[in-house]
Amino acid sequence: MIRQLFRFKGGIHPPQHKDRSTRSPIQAAWLPKQLILPLHQHIGESGEPIVAVGDHVLKGQKIARASGYVSASVHASSSGTITAIEELPIPHPSGLSASCIVIDTDGEDRWIEHGPEDIPYTEMDVSHLRNLIRTSGIVGLGGAGFPSSIKLNPAGSKIDTLILNGVECEPYITCDDMLMRERPENIIAGAKIMRHALNARQCLIAIEDNKPEAYTAMIEACKDEDIEVVQVPTLYPQGSEKQLIKVLTGKECPSNGLPFQIGIVVHNVGTAAAVHNAINLGEPLISRIVTVTGDGVAEPCNLEVLLGTPMQALLDQCGGLNSDVDRIIMGGPMMGFAMHSTEIPVIKTTNCILAATESNVTAPSDVMPCIRCGACADVCPVDLLPQQLQWYARSKEFERAQEHNLFDCIECGCCAYVCPSNIPLVHYYRYAKTEIWAQEREKEKADIARQRHEFRQSRIEREKAEKAARLAKKKAAVKKPADGEKDDKQAAIQAALDRAKAKKEAQGVEPKNIENMTPAQQKQIDDANARRQQTDTSEQES
Ligand code: SF4
Ligand code: SF4
Repeated sequence: MIRQLFRFKGGIHPPQHKDRSTRSPIQAAWLPKQLILPLHQHIGESGEPIVAVGDHVLKGQKIARASGYVSASVHASSSGTITAIEELPIPHPSGLSASCIVIDTDGEDRWIEHGPEDIPYTEMDVSHLRNLIRTSGIVGLGGAGFPSSIKLNPAGSKIDTLILNGVECEPYITCDDMLMRERPENIIAGAKIMRHALNARQCLIAIEDNKPEAYTAMIEACKDEDIEVVQVPTLYPQGSEKQLIKVLTGKECPSNGLPFQIGIVVHNVGTAAAVHNAINLGEPLISRIVTVTGDGVAEPCNLEVLLGTPMQALLDQCGGLNSDVDRIIMGGPMMGFAMHSTEIPVIKTTNCILAATESNVTAPSDVMPCIRCGACADVCPVDLLPQQLQWYARSKEFERAQEHNLFDCIECGCCAYVCPSNIPLVHYYRYAKTEIWAQEREKEKADIARQRHEFRQSRIEREKAEKAARLAKKKAAVKKPADGEKDDKQAAIQAALDRAKAKKEAQGVEPKNIENMTPAQQKQIDDANARRQQTDTSEQES
């Protein structure tokens, strides 16, 4: 039965330029003298080094472990000595430096002891299978670099369809094409492992119709398998996940949503081959196929490259650069970005090194004002308003850009490709996204600082209240007599005095030393008695 295919909105047909790098088979890249392995070669947290300068390591030995759920391990891609762990330039549009482990290779290329597990993957616990894929450092090799073990864990969602993406729609790039032509059985073996991990009902492999050799090889390899190989008409950017899902199933992935929410998972064919290497051979991800191409390099081809190999070494192996080379791009002319140096290493997401001449790419100096022709909107596969988005990005109206679904933009470059004014539209979207992320990070920091301040204030208030309560309790413990109690006490004292007085009177005690007084002494006593009597009288009157 022929599968019904669907069409996504927009898209373009740029010249392919693929044949120049598919004339010769995949070759092994030379072992470089030095490997530079960035700890961050994927989406998520950087790896954490577990080796020190001076250590001798073997090929396949883990040298950095994943440092979070969304992270990936890094392995030595050849044997040698760790000579540095330091900040070095990595492949990034901004020319960013980041922490790298540097290995001086010893030329022996000696493997660590390795091999598959004793039991077949079909009998393994699925979480153990995913963990093996995780510890093998496998990330999406199609260019995104998302850790594959996470995409194989749909968190309880039922997965109906596993799609292997062999579309490779971007001009110049042919690494997946060559892999499918030469190693289809590895892809199928990986696909079966992935399907088992996802418990997917069906597995489809999509290939554009500009790769007939790859299609034939995959059909042949699948003849005894319950896997469907689907040929799709060539259209850029069909290799983008959501567009491919639409073409194969007619389903739309929700805005800001992920394919597993509609029961679909998409992996690149190269990732499937890496999963086969990890599970069936026990080999972590230490190499990948890289297309070295463009009019700026003498002998374009595909090389199997040890991760960490400086790009210059590959350009040298391909006959060196021509004099009219304009720039070196990692990726293709549509979604790739220019390198600041050829000493930057190949990482897990390096699918292509394009040595571009001016005729291969648009020169930035040709930019003219927007004429509001609307061509950019016509080709946008996500149905955005590229000209409008560009305007908001330029004027830093980031909220408006977000309201216009900036983050749905897949940076495919279709809009910029058709723009008659040569406006580098995608640069504006990347700039706006970077600014928004930076603002969000700042806001997050400010929120954390505010929460800390509020927590501190509430702690101080609480301690104050507790102290006051303690003092009040102490005061209450030193108990004051009640008013009634006070009257009782005074009455008791008065009664005691009265009793003493009465006793004295009853005993008739007379004052001593009053005999034989002189008349003067008697007068003094009489005067005193008279004064006392007068005082008593006035007190009684008052
Ligand atoms: S294609 Fe270029 S010139 Fe035309 S509307 Fe879009 S941005 Fe403006
Ligand atoms: S780069 Fe973004 S805005 Fe431009 S066509 Fe692609 S998805 Fe649309």
